[in-house]
Amino acid sequence: MACGAVLQASANTAPRPHQRRTPARFDLSQLKRILVTGGAGFLGSHLCERLVSDGHDVICLDNFFTSQKSNVAHLLPRSNFELIRHDITLPCWLEVDEIYNLACPAAPGHYQYNPIKTMKTSVMGAINVLGMAKRCRAKVLQASTSEVYGDPEVHPQAESYRGSVNTLGPRACYDEGKRAAETLFMDYHRANRVNVRIVRIFNTYGPRMHPFDGRAVSNFIRQALRAEDITVFGDGSQTRSFCYRDDLVEAIIRTMNAPDTLIGPINIGNPGEFTIRELAELVIELTGSKSRIISRPLPQDDPRQRRPDIALARKHLDWEPKVSLREGLKETIDWFRSINMGHYRAPTPNY
Ligand code: NAD
Ligand code: UDP
Repeated sequence: MACGAVLQASANTAPRPHQRRTPARFDLSQLKRILVTGGAGFLGSHLCERLVSDGHDVICLDNFFTSQKSNVAHLLPRSNFELIRHDITLPCWLEVDEIYNLACPAAPGHYQYNPIKTMKTSVMGAINVLGMAKRCRAKVLQASTSEVYGDPEVHPQAESYRGSVNTLGPRACYDEGKRAAETLFMDYHRANRVNVRIVRIFNTYGPRMHPFDGRAVSNFIRQALRAEDITVFGDGSQTRSFCYRDDLVEAIIRTMNAPDTLIGPINIGNPGEFTIRELAELVIELTGSKSRIISRPLPQDDPRQRRPDIALARKHLDWEPKVSLREGLKETIDWFRSINMGHYRAPTPNY
């Protein structure tokens, strides 16, 4: 057993009545033991919350590199939730039915902080969860990314597009790590018949984003609420498509539950496309901020455009995003207003 300490609610702590699982509410034959790696992060914590409320036995595994326990503290009293501090680059011995593999820093500032560790997390993390899935005969879903398309020459991006990634640049540790993980998922599927799913997630935002992760949405909201200058990189004409976290969580659960023939990759994102300047202007409008927009140099290899083609998700998952950027930003801004940003720290040095 190579895992770290298991943190969970004490066995003596009886769940409060509203927390108790009732057979009347859940079909026990459908309840599963589910591992979420990176489960304390922005997306992972929302996924855990949803799976716990659906009654599953959920194990959240995280090394807290880019997150904090406060993201899942409210789940600790639940008898069907466990928290494990563990680094997914090391093997882990658990018995589960399904694995959602989300462990990986996702914001450019976070993944470039220690690029070698980022690559290890994607590649060794994939090998470790795939090995576990093979041993347990578990189903395993990989949180891949639109970054596998790099700076795309094809627009919008469909899953058939093979991408344009600079293997030598500062984003490559993330992009190539995720590409290698996709390869490992397909090889374990072909060689060992592991039941896999691959989703390619496009920019997703919402409450519990790390306020200092350096992403456009979190930076702009934080800057607007503090009446600081809003830092648009380059001329702001580069585009992104922003998906709200609730839409994303619904889509990845549908992918996990889809027939085994749906291996993917499958794009998950909101096809609404905005320039970064439009995003900055919308944040200023919704916050009522007096912030000015200023220009900063465009980072190397910053993709010029990004928009998902979600035809496959529409067809196979009967899914499409419901939350507009305006609505999602309002929720996110409300959450940013409610937190004490002083409680968030920069990523832990992690060599
Ligand atoms: P996040 O940084 O909030 O969450 C990642 C989590 O993984 C954190 O809790 C972090 O502590 C944990 N982690 C990192 N390295 C680890 C390791 N070696 N061992 C164990 N835990 C580790 O980011 P997020 O936005 O929630 O992203 C979650 C997943 O979704 C990532 O795999 C990311 O690549 C993918 N994704 C996210 C987006 C997005 O826009 N949010 C887009 C594409 C893909
Ligand atoms: N960006 C920006 N100002 C910021 C942070 C980001 O203009 O303070 C730009 C960034 O250069 C990119 C876009 O916003 O063009 C989205 O960046 P983010 O880091 O959110 O996501 P990614 O580049 O990974 O899609």
